[in-house]
Amino acid sequence: MSLSTDLKELLISKGATGVGFANLKGIKNVPNDMPNGISILIKLSKEAIKSIEVKGKKEYLKEYDNSYPILDELALKGEEFLKNKGYKAYALTKERVSVPDNKITLIPFKTVATRSGLGWIGKSALFITPKYGSAVRLITILTNAPLDFNKPITTSLCGMCRICQDNCPADAITGLTWNPKLERNDLFEYKKCLNVLEELAENEFHNPNVKVCSKCISVCPNTQRYVEK
Ligand code: SF4
Ligand code: SF4
Repeated sequence: MSLSTDLKELLISKGATGVGFANLKGIKNVPNDMPNGISILIKLSKEAIKSIEVKGKKEYLKEYDNSYPILDELALKGEEFLKNKGYKAYALTKERVSVPDNKITLIPFKTVATRSGLGWIGKSALFITPKYGSAVRLITILTNAPLDFNKPITTSLCGMCRICQDNCPADAITGLTWNPKLERNDLFEYKKCLNVLEELAENEFHNPNVKVCSKCISVCPNTQRYVEK
């Protein structure tokens, strides 16, 4: 068995839903000494996604919060596995990644995941998988290990759909179809979204720190297919 197969089996056995391997050449901020990436994906439960449409979004918020330590643990397991094989590896855990105000991190996990062949970026700027829609969360490991790269996804499968755009209460989704040359800001106006998130924090959650809408996750037909199955 190859290193990639062994690592994938390990991560799946520890709870990952999907794992992909990427050549990160040409992606900004990827360190020269660790030019390869591993994208780890976990799915969110159907119940959590359904609760996005229920006032308070209790299940969704709980599962979202709980997913951070799960993702961190998976990525650290992968890092440990690769280091034990003599390679450099660095898990981009919550603690190690700083998230700026505009929420665009130095090495976006979604970019690594498209390069890993796990899905595409929707018109909503969310990461979309064929099987779970956008009901997923991601984490990344950087490494110099020789991996069996997956075929990158470079084309959107959104087609003529514009459901997320039509349902966005902030009118934040521009409607452009993703390709790897577009930036997140071409697809989505974060400031408009943030206005709605702040309104929800005040009126729905009564907590200035809970800024969550996620309607674009819930309404996507790819997510709905998973939820209704
Ligand atoms: S989270 Fe809500 S406001 Fe923000 S883009 Fe998605 S649907 Fe629009
Ligand atoms: S709702 Fe439609 S346009 Fe928006 S991300 Fe999903 S498939 Fe793409």
